Amino acid sequence: MIIAGPCSAESEKQTVETAQKLAALGSVDAFRAGVWKPRTRPGSFEGVGANALPWLIAAREASGLPIVTEVANAKHVEACLKAGVDAVWIGARTTVNPFYVQEIADALRGVSLPVLVKNPIHPDVGLWIGALERIEKAGISQLSAVHRGFFAYRSEPFRNEPKWELAFELRNRAPHVPIVCDPSHIAGQRDLVQQVAQFAMDMQFDGLMVEVHPSPERAKSDADQQMTPSALGKMLSSLRLGSQEPHVSAEENEFLINGRTLLDVLDSEIVEILKKRMAVVDALGEWKAQKNISVFQLDRFNHIFKERGAQAAALDLNPALITELFQVVHKYSVDRQIKAVNDHRKSK
Ligand code: PEP
Ligand code: MN
Repeated sequence: MIIAGPCSAESEKQTVETAQKLAALGSVDAFRAGVWKPRTRPGSFEGVGANALPWLIAAREASGLPIVTEVANAKHVEACLKAGVDAVWIGARTTVNPFYVQEIADALRGVSLPVLVKNPIHPDVGLWIGALERIEKAGISQLSAVHRGFFAYRSEPFRNEPKWELAFELRNRAPHVPIVCDPSHIAGQRDLVQQVAQFAMDMQFDGLMVEVHPSPERAKSDADQQMTPSALGKMLSSLRLGSQEPHVSAEENEFLINGRTLLDVLDSEIVEILKKRMAVVDALGEWKAQKNISVFQLDRFNHIFKERGAQAAALDLNPALITELFQVVHKYSVDRQIKAVNDHRKSK
């Protein structure tokens, strides 16, 4: 499922022309355009509002593509139903708020409109699932999730941190809900959209929602991440689409099975090593408790990251992998030692 269109509907001409160009590509299934734009700071372009809905209808007439827009409250839903839009999505800033999601769900009760639910801005799969459940309970059966990444203090090179593992968690917990990736909001810059889209396809996502504008650099919102319709056409034709059932020979399949077996062995070694590491951590925790030495020492913390980071660089491993891994290992090690210290205090 490919959904494409501008971040915002800015004028009738821009809306209709973009939809026509997208329809001409032949591979776009639906046209998106934001009408009410939730912006982080006031004063930026906040969308044209309900007055732009007729432009979307005109875009559908001119292109034949079904139209989808964002709703953030019951009034938006009512305006969309009245105008006759084909589907709506709930944005990342709305999914975080169960009051708004419930209000939208109530406004949708009794209608059969497809609804897409973007992930909440912060990485909480529970909120994402909760929003899907609220919409489902209102009787909406055509539900999809949209993965658009998560706010992070540091997310370079992207605008939003993908945190792909959270999309997989959603897939595990709600396997009946298709997941569309929004590589534009993850990437934040048009040059990076394709690599995110390719990753999503490799990870068996069910579709893409891509921001497209006839003159991206002049777009009134999200100018950096929008691409032209022809750039979208090029991107779509060069994406490699993986298939769930590999079309490979028996020998090639053996290569896959052997590789996975090897990974299982290595992963199990990692677990064994962590077990050994935690035994040393426990012994040191006991010792620190007896000597009344604080569990966390900044120079030790820095040492771990510096040494292991340098080792990773020498081995051509991504330093972020090592930093994130040791942040987690260090956190759980400190937790165990704090517990050792507390147990020691209690036993006195
Ligand atoms: C959008 O799709 O233009 C949008 C505002 O998205 P998000 O809610 O993901 O920020
Ligand atoms: Mn946008």
